Amino acid sequence: MKKISIIIPAYNEEESLPHLYERLEKLMSSMENYEFEILFVNDGSKDNTISLIKEYREKDNRISYVDFSRNFGKEIAMIAGLDYAKGDCVIFMDADLQDPPELIPELVKYWEEGYDDVYAKRNSRKGETWLKKFTSKMYYRVLQHLTNVPIQEDTGDFRLLDRRCVNALRKMRESQRCSKSMFSWIGYKKKEVLYDRDPRVAGQTKWNYKKLVDLAIDGITSFTTSPLRISTYVSIPTFMILFIYFIYVIAKCIVTSTAIQAYQAIILLILFFSGVQILLFGIIGEYLGRIFNESKNRPLYLVNEYNGEKEMNDEDK
Ligand code: UDP
Ligand code: MG
Repeated sequence: MKKISIIIPAYNEEESLPHLYERLEKLMSSMENYEFEILFVNDGSKDNTISLIKEYREKDNRISYVDFSRNFGKEIAMIAGLDYAKGDCVIFMDADLQDPPELIPELVKYWEEGYDDVYAKRNSRKGETWLKKFTSKMYYRVLQHLTNVPIQEDTGDFRLLDRRCVNALRKMRESQRCSKSMFSWIGYKKKEVLYDRDPRVAGQTKWNYKKLVDLAIDGITSFTTSPLRISTYVSIPTFMILFIYFIYVIAKCIVTSTAIQAYQAIILLILFFSGVQILLFGIIGEYLGRIFNESKNRPLYLVNEYNGEKEMNDEDK
């Protein structure tokens, strides 16, 4: 029997978990030809999430869990899930039931037909503000323009990945992760499935705009160095303007035989150029920060417990 691992990152999800478990149980009993593993990654929750998960595991041996030593963020929880999942394929799902488990049979059907990466594309976004919809749309546009790999629009992390995709993703150990573009980067045979994204069943969203902006910047800078090219694009016309203006001022002085009266213009120019320089230094700093972070070569995450056993951190995952 083929084994399907469902990976669920969970951060303070005690209110959603009972609903989630109920829906998953129904799903699993409707798909009798498969073995299931439900792998929770408890991302340093501060509520009762972990004790609930442990409770479920006692009743149901299909439940496994990885318990982080602290909150590492959803992206890191996802790679940990890939590291620990035992299935022939994995499915990423949110704990808040925004991704309906009822779609899983369809994902699996396409997997059986030979697709390696079956991703769910959102038809609508119920219960999300227009600002979030708008910013996410703009983000996809920008990301698409700047990177060479095609990015799937309106696609979250809800997807099924074949074992070989899992192995490929596990080789990508960078610390500032953007799974969305990594899924595109690995390639393989992809298939899109449409669905309606539901509002969260319970609890609060864990995202705020700062986190989203951080994710967006990571997504762009981890896949392309084209922001570095801004320096070229900005500097060429700037120097041309500078040169033309310089000629103009000199010529005017000679023709009218007056001294330069342009101290205000000079102040403006100084302000302008220092502005440009600050911008460029910012961009360079962004990449230097990345090199710094990657060169530290730290483990991506630390695990407190795996299925009830204390993790000693003595082997490489
Ligand atoms: N999540 C996580 N670590 C975090 C933040 C979120 O593991 O630091 C999990 C969360 O429990 C949920 C999923 O990531 O299962 C998506 O989070 P959320 O629903 O808050 O995001 P949204 O759907 O609003 O984008
Ligand atoms: Mg959600």
